[in-house]
Amino acid sequence: MDPLIQALDIATGPVDPSGLPHLKDHSIGSLRTKLVEFGLPSYRADQIAGWLYRRGVDDPEAMTDLPADLRVHLASEWQTRALEVASVLRSVDGTIKAAFRTWDGEHIESVLIPERARNTLCISTQVGCPLACSFCATGALGFTRNLRTSEIIDQVCRMAEILAADDSPESARGITNVVFMGMGEPLLNLDAVLETIRLLIHPKAFALAPRRVTVSTVGVLPRLEPLLAVAPVNLAVSLHATTDAVRDQLVPLNRRFPLAELLDTLRGLETVTQRRPVFFEYTLIEGVNDSPEDAKRLAPLLAGIPSKLNLIPMNGHADSPMHSPDDATIDRFLRIVAGSGLFVSLRRSRGLDIDAACGQLALRHVARAAASVSTGAPPRWAR
Ligand code: SF4
Repeated sequence: MDPLIQALDIATGPVDPSGLPHLKDHSIGSLRTKLVEFGLPSYRADQIAGWLYRRGVDDPEAMTDLPADLRVHLASEWQTRALEVASVLRSVDGTIKAAFRTWDGEHIESVLIPERARNTLCISTQVGCPLACSFCATGALGFTRNLRTSEIIDQVCRMAEILAADDSPESARGITNVVFMGMGEPLLNLDAVLETIRLLIHPKAFALAPRRVTVSTVGVLPRLEPLLAVAPVNLAVSLHATTDAVRDQLVPLNRRFPLAELLDTLRGLETVTQRRPVFFEYTLIEGVNDSPEDAKRLAPLLAGIPSKLNLIPMNGHADSPMHSPDDATIDRFLRIVAGSGLFVSLRRSRGLDIDAACGQLALRHVARAAASVSTGAPPRWAR
């Protein structure tokens, strides 16, 4: 295993003192195997998943088509609920941000973005993040631990409940899309992310088409192939710069996996070149990466990769002096890129008034211990 990945692949935190296994830590295939170990028929996993994910029922006693002795077994020997709602904020534009509390008192955030024909849920995979990207509020928090599968998938369960309780016109269609773009780098918590994807796309669980699931990464290259092998989900790559000198400053992991290596790896993967386009995310930052030269470099840089470029004007936050360019600069950048033949769109941020936009998830409204806030120093491998 790559020594960097090994160093970062920190275990999933302290052991839950209850010692009980969690039903939501398993994909349906894995739960079938676990049930057999308990001497139970494997097909019960499909029924249990139907209750947990399709009907949103956590209480085994309420799973009425299961035999009574199995309900007693599930209630006494398993856990079924991983997160509690700590707070819910609603933006004037309809975006909902929820903070969730884990069993050990940590907090994470998820954001639901209602759009015309879909409700996209942005979920977190780590408590904080070890990658310390300089424009990102989550990176400034430092890193506490990886989330378990149950803690990742329960963000979908809890937000579905919050949405169902809403009387907005959007609530009836439920959650239609899931993006792994919240707190944390998903590919540093790969096993839990893969189990979560299996649950999201399984017909007995959330039954989302893989094209409705997007995983975002800054480029943990050894983990791309196993991610894309699990299902044809969308891949989003946080690019943010056109030279290593600038990307080293914005995304410290670039010092380990520089631009040419990142893009060559993508060009070499059939699961990239023969599927849907890769979404390249490019946060526009005034005076850093917004020049006409940057705009002109993008098309040649991405040549050979089916690409869509999303330009995201920087969403400011208290932990960074960086901010968005003015409208004229953004417009000039957009026109140069579009003129070079790249498929490009300008993503207007949602939920700015509740700190729910890209790069803003930092638990500002959740009290947190001073000890968990990083010094802002670069991570070990970047020094
Ligand atoms: S941008 Fe993503 S990878 Fe970078 S610090 Fe923020 S959450 Fe982590």
